[in-house]
Amino acid sequence: MSAPTSLASAWRARVLAAPDHVALSHRGRRWSAAELDADAGALAAALAGRGVGPGDRVALHLQNVPAFPLALLALWRLGAVGVLANPMYRDRELHHLLADSGAVGVITAASDVEALRSAAASTAVGWWLGVADDDPELTDVVAAHAGAVVPEHPVGPDDLAMLTYTSGTTGPPKGAMNTHANVLATVERFGAWIELTPDDVVYAAAPLFHITGAVASAALALVGGATLALSGRFDPADAVTTIEAEGATFTIASITAFHAIEQVAWAGRGHLASLRAVYTGGAPVPQASLDRFRDRFGIAIHNVYGMTESTSAVVAVPLGVAAPVDPLSGAVAIGRALPGVGIEVVTDAGSPAAPDEPGELVLSGSQVVPGYWRNPEATARTMPEGRLHTGDVVVADADGWIYLVDRLKDQINVSGYKVWPREVEDVLYEHPAVHEAAVVGRPDDYRGEAVVAHVVLAAGRTATPRELIAHTRTRLAAYKAPREVHLVAELPKTATGKIRRDDLRA
Ligand code: AMP
Repeated sequence: MSAPTSLASAWRARVLAAPDHVALSHRGRRWSAAELDADAGALAAALAGRGVGPGDRVALHLQNVPAFPLALLALWRLGAVGVLANPMYRDRELHHLLADSGAVGVITAASDVEALRSAAASTAVGWWLGVADDDPELTDVVAAHAGAVVPEHPVGPDDLAMLTYTSGTTGPPKGAMNTHANVLATVERFGAWIELTPDDVVYAAAPLFHITGAVASAALALVGGATLALSGRFDPADAVTTIEAEGATFTIASITAFHAIEQVAWAGRGHLASLRAVYTGGAPVPQASLDRFRDRFGIAIHNVYGMTESTSAVVAVPLGVAAPVDPLSGAVAIGRALPGVGIEVVTDAGSPAAPDEPGELVLSGSQVVPGYWRNPEATARTMPEGRLHTGDVVVADADGWIYLVDRLKDQINVSGYKVWPREVEDVLYEHPAVHEAAVVGRPDDYRGEAVVAHVVLAAGRTATPRELIAHTRTRLAAYKAPREVHLVAELPKTATGKIRRDDLRA
């Protein structure tokens, strides 16, 4: 049998191969592949009844509930496209997504429908489908169309599976066009990397509305033949309980999520013992965090790097391998390129970097999206000729390990000396009283920019700004040590757990 060229056909192959195997679980409720397929078929009929057809965009404004994978499977069957919208988005943010994507309908929490209706003013949205809190699996809609048959629309590898919005560095969010071939490539490569089998239970800790949740959890499990375990919006104590109850074997989440799990006082090794592969990506990973989690839970968290525009994971630490640390920058390796991923490191002068020389990471290959939705200028700027300019500064060593030094735009310039915030944050994390740290540059008349740290202290710990500055001074060149440390109750974060350095700068 030839390899499937669409997500719908890959899903079909899985259903036929093992119809009774559990495909989805949510708080004790389980769906076999055949049951989930029947429900997705009924939802597809309901959506077709509302006029959804091939190429149409439908916004999913949902937490990690069963309606999410159901909707994706239903849309893919119709040849339609899921527009992933952060369910925390309110009026203005949602309006931009609906208007830009040309979505024909919205699937959201039933309790949000009335409040959000105005977000669809002067857009193509013709209907809203509400998902009730006590019915996150759309039982009524599915029952009303049970047994209805909608023919599977033939879909090609270059057709769109999802539009995933990314804020990037400037301007309003842009819709990355993740094709069926893009998603299938990630599922195949990352699935092989983590040695995924049908026995695996993938706990979706990352939000499904973000690329990593959608692809490296949902599509990975659904199409990869494993079980997808959901438990709504991420909550650390709930995550621990679900991992244990479902016997989760794999999870991927931001480092913030693992920091939050560390704060669950009662959680211990036994609760997480079923996990055999644990990955973190999306934001810099301090070595101190990896050490702390391993000492507490006996679990090695592996780094993985990806972007919305690279359809999630493209560089990752091999399973069971401890990532090396770059002797120069102190960064933990993000990993090695997945087989088939095109990697270049390009210097400021535009030439290929030598081993150990920093440069911008440029990606190519079948995981890179063909462009941004209806935005040829941004496409030409960010991915000319299919080469995705990531804006991330990396070094690659002679053995193929890749280290992310920092974001280009986050570099701080102190009297001409370049300071990478990540390096300063790593040192702050080594202090036992530091729970979270974020370092930014502040304009400074004398030095150009000054290094400023924002720190959240660990529960029950104390430290003064002066102490923390002294801690960094003994470990870093003087110009890198923060001039100021601000103790704060929390740090501004994106929905996916990235610390918003932009907000801190403002
Ligand atoms: P997004 O498109 O929201 O997934 O964000 C992608 C960006 O997240 C990348 O360009 C990196 O700056 C950052 N990122 C992703 N993975 C990692 C990682 N493992 N370590 C550090 N930064 C990361």
